[in-house]
Amino acid sequence: MTQKLIKFSNHLYYLTPSHVTDRPVLGAIVGKKHVLMVDGGNSPNHVELFLRELEKQGVKPPSLVLLTHWHWDHIFGLSELSIPIIAQNKTIEKIKYLSGLSWDLASLNYRVQTDEEISFCADMMKKEYGESIEQIQVVHPTIGFNKELYLDLGDLSCRIEHVGGDHAEDSTIIYIEEERFMFLGDSTSCDIYAKKRKYTAGKLIPLMNRLEEYEAEWYLHSHTDAPITRQQFIQENQECRAIMNSIHKLGRDFLSIEQEVQSVFGRELTEDDKELLRYFLNGYEA
Ligand SMILES: [Zn+2]
Repeated sequence: MTQKLIKFSNHLYYLTPSHVTDRPVLGAIVGKKHVLMVDGGNSPNHVELFLRELEKQGVKPPSLVLLTHWHWDHIFGLSELSIPIIAQNKTIEKIKYLSGLSWDLASLNYRVQTDEEISFCADMMKKEYGESIEQIQVVHPTIGFNKELYLDLGDLSCRIEHVGGDHAEDSTIIYIEEERFMFLGDSTSCDIYAKKRKYTAGKLIPLMNRLEEYEAEWYLHSHTDAPITRQQFIQENQECRAIMNSIHKLGRDFLSIEQEVQSVFGRELTEDDKELLRYFLNGYEA
């Protein structure tokens, strides 16, 4: 699957993700004075592709980069950049830890065996880097923040907020006011580092409520090809709320929950819905 640079508006560009080596979306938020890049990519090659595509479309190169969370696919391309890196304080702590690890194949495999790393990420790293996995460089961020940060890129206002969630406790979103557009990072994804992938009501409900409070018309998740509308976002959240309600009421009984959720949705559940339901049950059991 080829990645493409999409021009969403004069102020917003993003490179589509790749599921082949788990490359997330890379964004460019273009103000009069600054271009803010969203996320640092999964490798120098990934960032190089992004910079090249921006240049082709006549967009100024990024002058700042913001990280949405610490996961490898969002930070391993930072060595390709020489601009200030902005990150939430917990993201910085995690990155400092990662920079102390050895990034050769044997060490990576050992971390998978000892459950420090998951095979999904290790396999994707091997695919992205091939023979050159030892060249991975982990770069420390320049600027830290705790809860919120406001950036004026030149007639373009960005609100950056640490929101947390099941996927990563440092998850951060960025909202571009004039465009009513939000980069979600992976914040709304499940916990992939748990023994069984899971969502918990305790983390997801406050997260969804907070994200809906923004007046965003568009929400872009890091591993999807296109933003979804506010209406779609709210509908998906409502479906998650319905699943959580049923589990709260019916406990672990998959079939009864499935039946009840089906009647709320007004349709048969797809395989994706059933997977989602299992993640919620995993979170409930945990
Ligand atoms: Zn992630």
